[in-house]
Amino acid sequence: MKYDVIIIGAGPGGIFSAYELMKKKPELKVAVFEGGAALEERHCPIDGEKVKSCIKCKSCAIMSGFGGAGAFSDGKYNITNDFGGTLYEYIGKKKALELMKYVDEINTSHGGADTKMYSTAGTGLKKICMQNKLNLLDASVRHLGTDINYIVLGNIYEELKNKMDFYFHTPIQKLKVTSDGYQVIFADGTAECKKCIVSVGRSGSKWMESVCKELDIPTKSNRVDIGVRVELPAVIFAELTDELYESKIVYHTEKFEDRVRTFCMNPYGIVVNENTNGIVTVNGHSFEDVKKRTENTNFALLVAKHFSEPFKDSNGYGESIARLSNMLGGGVIVQRFGDLERGRRSTVKRIEEGTVRPTLAATPGDLSLVLPKRILDGIIEMIYALDKIAPGTANDDTLLYGVEVKFYNMEVAINKNLETKYEGLYVIGDGSGVTHSLSHASASGVFVADEIAEKM
Ligand SMILES: Cc1cc2nc3c(=O)[nH]c(=O)nc-3n(C[C@H](O)[C@H](O)[C@H](O)COP(=O)(O)OP(=O)(O)OC[C@H]3O[C@@H](n4cnc5c(N)ncnc54)[C@H](O)[C@@H]3O)c2cc1C
Repeated sequence: MKYDVIIIGAGPGGIFSAYELMKKKPELKVAVFEGGAALEERHCPIDGEKVKSCIKCKSCAIMSGFGGAGAFSDGKYNITNDFGGTLYEYIGKKKALELMKYVDEINTSHGGADTKMYSTAGTGLKKICMQNKLNLLDASVRHLGTDINYIVLGNIYEELKNKMDFYFHTPIQKLKVTSDGYQVIFADGTAECKKCIVSVGRSGSKWMESVCKELDIPTKSNRVDIGVRVELPAVIFAELTDELYESKIVYHTEKFEDRVRTFCMNPYGIVVNENTNGIVTVNGHSFEDVKKRTENTNFALLVAKHFSEPFKDSNGYGESIARLSNMLGGGVIVQRFGDLERGRRSTVKRIEEGTVRPTLAATPGDLSLVLPKRILDGIIEMIYALDKIAPGTANDDTLLYGVEVKFYNMEVAINKNLETKYEGLYVIGDGSGVTHSLSHASASGVFVADEIAEKM
């Protein structure tokens, strides 16, 4: 098994590398190794009836397989350098935006043409936010929705599948440097290549760490975002979501001057479980198809936690907090905002009597037993700040699911070509620690494919 290029991981980063290589250098022999399943085989066993919550599958169908963590995501492609990663620090702001727009063109030409592009340009909501100590970040966002995102991925796969070799259910165990390239080792074989693109995302973070250790590639890690997912009636946020779809709003708390931000807003969506390395946290989806919409909007409120020397394991810190919620709730905990404010746990009865119908079956409990006080205080302060621009946010019945943790992969030392100290070994997407979003991960994939196409 000898290839010109091997791509490890078929998330957005890997897929867009593959797509660009096929377009720019169709003569190259390319293989894609993916630990998860092909797109059509990806099914989360939670059906709301027989299986109500996460059963911790060996390979999580939500996080792994063709499409990566992005496959069942809300498909919000944010075209901006303001958030979603720091790709621009490596390739420049102009190039980063150019590639994000190029990715958008590919998505729209593969089934996403009828989806909407939202923008903060010229919105009056920016001023209203500012007047209430909130900062609305600038972005354009293409909302594919979970359903159209799936169709786009399917169409891209159809174009790729006969032009290169795909190996699903084949997690790469080891990566070795050879005299003329790289060798990848999997359960029942090996393969060799001249250039290797590693795009293993968040689910591959532990593996990436081990590769960096073995190959002596420097890394650093000092940040984790911890918080809750808020669920409330969609009408409360309609003014913001109808115009902007997703609004990234930042607030600096008065008490500690901590930075709290909204993240991953899902109008008329559902709250879902997320399993990262066996730890169950919470996330959200929404649908472009009006028929699949719910009456609720959900979004995360996250507090950024940066650590300084000597502590290095920021993800370990986040995992411990998530584990605590799993220990108390058997998974994700849900609490009414009114119960949190009154210092009491939520119960099934109190949730049932509330006006917000939960879209995720979580265990009613008390988030104050899980989240550190400083983080909880920040979240409560921001809920009251948001209440000023979207009255009703701080209602007693607003639901808070916890915990939501945004793990940041450690940052792998790469140069401005996204190449490690080994020539021809590229690390891209969320696995590099440089990107944290669909558009940045995809753009990094296009970027390295162009680099390789130029060199080979
Ligand atoms: C529920 C959910 C909703 C989201 N919504 C949005 C959104 O709306 N907008 C947005 O911008 N971002 C969103 N995100 C984040 C987004 O999905 C990621 O930023 C993006 O998928 C990163 O792409 P990637 O290719 O770097 O990694 P991933 O998508 O994580 O893909 C990595 C792939 O590598 C595979 N892999 C890992 N290790 C190995 C190995 N050793 N061998 C072989 N294969 C391996 C994995 O199975 C996986 O398929 C969401 C994430 C989740 C979980």
